[in-house]
Amino acid sequence: MKTLLLVFVQLVYLLSCQQNKINQPSKTIRDEKAVDKLGAIHIIPLGKVRKELIKEVIDWLKNFYQQEIIEESPALLTEDLLAPSKTRYNANEILKKFNSTKNILIITEKDISSFKGIKQPEKFYNAPIKGITKEWGIFGLGLRPGNVCVISAYAKRLGKNATPKLLKERLQKIAIHEVGHNKGLEHCNKNTECLMHAADGSIKQVDHEKLFFCDNCRKILGI
Ligand SMILES: [Zn+2]
Ligand SMILES: [Zn+2]
Repeated sequence: MKTLLLVFVQLVYLLSCQQNKINQPSKTIRDEKAVDKLGAIHIIPLGKVRKELIKEVIDWLKNFYQQEIIEESPALLTEDLLAPSKTRYNANEILKKFNSTKNILIITEKDISSFKGIKQPEKFYNAPIKGITKEWGIFGLGLRPGNVCVISAYAKRLGKNATPKLLKERLQKIAIHEVGHNKGLEHCNKNTECLMHAADGSIKQVDHEKLFFCDNCRKILGI
């Protein structure tokens, strides 16, 4: 009887150990998935984009995310990407057209837009709803989570009251922010200086942000 009890106790002990083992790796697997997302980011210039700007985007992302960054050949700015106003390019359409299993950041020097005041469907930020065409010029847009984002270096929007140096700083923050959405980060409400804080079209907010992710965002990313 005593032996049977001992076997039983050992069995319970073994089972509880196994349970722990099952629980712990699932956390690790999640972390590994986050790390998998650190595969190369492919930069696609959309239309004519200054070489110097592309080079900087590559350096910024490489330094911040410690990922391989690959420059791809430029893609054509085609008419199907025009927003209803025909004066800007539709960021949502750009994301749809370039969606891929690879990580992609599209950069354009044209103005891009999305649609204002609309409840965001799951995966898009500021996504349009059929029939509503109120456009809103934006700095960037990214899928969350997803593999593709777009940033605009359009000088009249990004360069408001800015020196060329400040314009670049702003673009750097926007590139890191949009890639952050791709990695699954939502807008951050823990720290107004965190790069994932919502800019909501405000260049002042972009300028207020610092080049970092707050502890909460880092925790979500597992970095
Ligand atoms: Zn955002
Ligand atoms: Zn944050």
